[in-house]
Amino acid sequence: MREKVQKLSALVPSLTLPRFVGEGLLVGALLAYALLYASPYGLRVLTVAGVYALAAIGFQIVFGLGGALSLAHGAFFGLGAYATGILGSQWGWSFVATFPVSLLVPLLLALVVGLPVLRLESHYFALATLGIAQVVLLLAVNSPGLTGGANGLPGVPGIVLFGWAVPRGLPLASVVWAFVALGGALAWRLASGRWGRALTLVRDDPLAAGTLGLDVGGLRLAAFALSAVYAGAAGALAVHTQRVVSPEVLEFPVMVSVLTIAVVGGRGRVAGAILGAVLLIHLPEWFRFLERSYLIVYGAALLVTMVLMPHGLTGLLDRLFPQRPRPLPRVAAPSVVARPSGPVLRVEGLGKAFGGVRAVDGVSLTLEAGSITGLIGPNGSGKTTVINLISGLERLDQGRILLSGRNLTGQRPDRIARAGVARTFQAVSLPEGATVLEAVATARLERDRTVAEAEAHALWALECLGAADLAARPCADLPAALRRRVELARALARQPAVLLLDEPAAGLTDAEKADLAGHLRAIAALGTALLVVEHDMGFLLPLAGHVLCLDQGRTLYDGPPDGVRNDPAVVAAYLGEGAP
Ligand code: ADP
Ligand code: MG
Repeated sequence: MREKVQKLSALVPSLTLPRFVGEGLLVGALLAYALLYASPYGLRVLTVAGVYALAAIGFQIVFGLGGALSLAHGAFFGLGAYATGILGSQWGWSFVATFPVSLLVPLLLALVVGLPVLRLESHYFALATLGIAQVVLLLAVNSPGLTGGANGLPGVPGIVLFGWAVPRGLPLASVVWAFVALGGALAWRLASGRWGRALTLVRDDPLAAGTLGLDVGGLRLAAFALSAVYAGAAGALAVHTQRVVSPEVLEFPVMVSVLTIAVVGGRGRVAGAILGAVLLIHLPEWFRFLERSYLIVYGAALLVTMVLMPHGLTGLLDRLFPQRPRPLPRVAAPSVVARPSGPVLRVEGLGKAFGGVRAVDGVSLTLEAGSITGLIGPNGSGKTTVINLISGLERLDQGRILLSGRNLTGQRPDRIARAGVARTFQAVSLPEGATVLEAVATARLERDRTVAEAEAHALWALECLGAADLAARPCADLPAALRRRVELARALARQPAVLLLDEPAAGLTDAEKADLAGHLRAIAALGTALLVVEHDMGFLLPLAGHVLCLDQGRTLYDGPPDGVRNDPAVVAAYLGEGAP
């Protein structure tokens, strides 16, 4: 099926024009339609499309970029609508006063509920946000004194801007679309800058994001809160357009429409929200002649769209107007961090149990600046868990972690990363949609001021590892050995004081291993303290100045590399017959 879809999409001719040409043409077509062609009814539909576009732009931030399926978006829309509806119709407040309240009320609710619910796993998060939407709807229906109950409130005033009561038709459509343009431009700037890149990494790989210094919880909360502001603004504009507010604005169809718009338009893209909204709000009009069979045709059309265009309308546009590859950034001279010699990382009495299994049991180690320490042991002996504990991905039961005398015990992964600890993973995971340069640059998003600066540092790290020629390749195309190289470059780009590598040579050929050994020596020569988990003794022992062997979470051996092959306990547990 997938191949068929790919074959079909390969038939789409591709015109190598810059992408803004495609988007510019669409905006032009929309303007021409509104100014020259649309009937009063057509303008009304276009206004509603603008309202939904604004809501969907906000949804792209939390769902598209942040990857969190927030089903509370409709509730935020409804809250914005009710804030304007109640204050406007009952208290006589004008647009300039009600509009900010309509942004603030959903924002506050998002901040209050976001903290607990954003911690939940994705499907529980969706369910919890659906719960929020239900509670808000029930409250609105059951507080007739405030909200007018099931009937809602009539008499919401129209928009008044600087003393001008915006009339319906072209003026109202223009005002709504001006908000879409403003909100779209802001979202686009955020999405294409450091913040958007960071949020995308949080979506694709939250574990790695934390170890690259990104505050995963904070980023998610900010995205959720910002999306609520957009929804509130859209809700306010909706009731100004309709001049009434009723529980309809809180009901599930609003949420379904926004979700469909984002997916059909193209997930995560501002242009996708706009295109999707224009298309989806107009579809019922175009199919009106079908009367009763309308829903069937509508559903079928949606299904076909999603199967044929898995990346939505903007994905199709990307193929029609592929982006020219960007030139590589100039390499910034790396500010070489002078590292004092001596112990950098001290780990004392580390302990961690999973249920009844003592995965790590009283492990202590010291990493010296500029040295390479090997960590060996049979599978399941606790090596990865030691790295997870030091980098903060697992909470430790006992022990202390000190980095240059600073206590990092129990800190969050991003704090530990910012203090100077970087790591790679046993199972390499790179953001599949990104190029190598973009993937490595994620390591610098927290530290550098611009994406360009982050990419310059990323290119430097790639050059250090002799991999600069990979920069423009998509991560998804790389073979395993090169993926490991890219992940190492990402860790190196942080210029860490301590670098923890979990089986960096796994799956490499002998020549690749020799190459890697040379690079690891060079990294150590910069003053970095390395901890290397490895099974290949031929690779590790010549490299390491010091070796630790674990078995069932306990330290069996702690000494120079030459002693390890002759140590009876190590031989019995690990290096016995047929051992590596
Ligand atoms: P190694 O990296 O040396 O192969 P690990 O540190 O991955 O070993 O695992 C050590 C022990 O802890 C194993 O028994 C493993 O099954 C257990 N373990 C590791 N992570 C978890 C986890 N998240 N939940 C439960 N058990 C775990
Ligand atoms: Mg492991």
